[in-house]
Amino acid sequence: MKRRPIMTLICLLLGLEVVAFVLPGFQRILGLRCVIRGCVPKKILVYGASFRGEIEDAKNYGWELNDKVDFNWKKLLHKKTEEIVRLNGIYKRLLTNAGVKLYEGEGKIVGPNEVEVTQLDGTKLCYSAKHILIATGSRAQRPTIPGQELSITSDEALSLDELPKRAVILGGGYIAVEFASIWNGMGVAVDLFFRKELPLRGFDDEMRAVVARNLEARGINLHPRTTLSELVKTEDGIKVITDHGEELTADVVLFATGRAPNTKRLNLEVVGVELDKMGAVKVDEYSRTNIPSIWAIGDVTNRMNLTPVALMEGTYFAKTVFGGQPSKPDYKDIPCAVFCLPPLSVVGLSEEQATDQAEGDILVFTSTFNPMKNTISGRQEKTIMKLLVDAETDKVLGASMCGPDAPEIMQGIAVALKCGATKAQFDCTVGIHPSAAEEFVTMRSVTRRIAAGNKPKTNL
Ligand code: NDP
Repeated sequence: MKRRPIMTLICLLLGLEVVAFVLPGFQRILGLRCVIRGCVPKKILVYGASFRGEIEDAKNYGWELNDKVDFNWKKLLHKKTEEIVRLNGIYKRLLTNAGVKLYEGEGKIVGPNEVEVTQLDGTKLCYSAKHILIATGSRAQRPTIPGQELSITSDEALSLDELPKRAVILGGGYIAVEFASIWNGMGVAVDLFFRKELPLRGFDDEMRAVVARNLEARGINLHPRTTLSELVKTEDGIKVITDHGEELTADVVLFATGRAPNTKRLNLEVVGVELDKMGAVKVDEYSRTNIPSIWAIGDVTNRMNLTPVALMEGTYFAKTVFGGQPSKPDYKDIPCAVFCLPPLSVVGLSEEQATDQAEGDILVFTSTFNPMKNTISGRQEKTIMKLLVDAETDKVLGASMCGPDAPEIMQGIAVALKCGATKAQFDCTVGIHPSAAEEFVTMRSVTRRIAAGNKPKTNL
């Protein structure tokens, strides 16, 4: 085994003297999950799917679409791959320009300051470093039901050779509702099964109900309080049997049932790095493990599993370790979005969280309206916005929106919340007219007041 001492050994670009390891199978593709098999290709598919609604909406705007409109999945797939390859070229250049050496192989930690890498040809290399950063992310997990091997995860769903005619999706989280919208937009018949009354557990209940209504109105068959018991291969496709004994057949079954931290083959138990009961690496608020030279960021720590959050954790790690300035990531008021059609975006507390956490009363402001575009297109799909305000301090504690452009609008609202904006400051902000966003600064009347300790009254 060759030994190569280097000063710093981490597996993420941080603009310092670093060495990055990528797993075999990634074929020297960088940027990893978000760029290759996550947010970026997913968003490209969401754009692709959204044209169906745009084409429908165009008719009342005078567009004559006489010829049959066809969707070419293979063409989109090809364009998506081209874009991913382009982005990976950029990542590669960034790393090279920052002086990063990249080794392809499977890494494991063999000591507090040592990593062993098995290269593709089987040769093992050993590196020593002052600091090791674990950033190995997470991988999709599937329920162990009979026939589960017939299902796919989002990894495969992003690059299917053929677009299915019928798709079954299990799960009610981000990936499930996003893929339901993607496939529905592309003309696939979609059946979505989830365990709860509504999808998107953890989000504001009222918003969850709006998302469910919109998915259904766009033609997705929702099966709440239902899970799958068995998958069986048949001549006609995959037979899906539910826990209620119902059966249906699909061409593709997607399991979008969460992700587990990628810690299994890293040898962490031997080195003594502590894991929690989910298998996530336990870290302190600076992202340091119980072994002082080993750090971890991103999904592998299972804190808040979002790409920009991992980026924040990486930035603060770099400041702490190399910037001489110990810095803790701040998890308050992190905005996020679910890219279903139309999208949902939120920042701060949901109504349920605000009521649970606040000591005083909560004022709920809501606005439900027909987006201006729909007045002509005729689309029956309302936009809904919500602000939650602390009745005593007037601080805005949470904001949410389900409607076109919600993520673009919410990013700006997130800045206001981060600055501790009050409702009075929202009210004295002049709107941009005519826009949907202006509703956020013109919600004058309280929809309801929730007395301290009372549960929200959304009847869900
Ligand atoms: P989520 O954790 O969001 O949702 C998992 C879903 O699977 C839940 O609805 C859960 O149901 C359900 N589930 C879990 N186990 C079972 C089971 N045995 N049977 C039936 N249903 C089950 O995970 P996703 O896979 O959707 O996404 C993975 C991660 O990727 C998330 O952490 C998310 O943050 C991230 N992501 C972010 C995106 C974004 O920012 N837009 C987009 C895509 C992914 P229940 O609620 O009943 O527990």
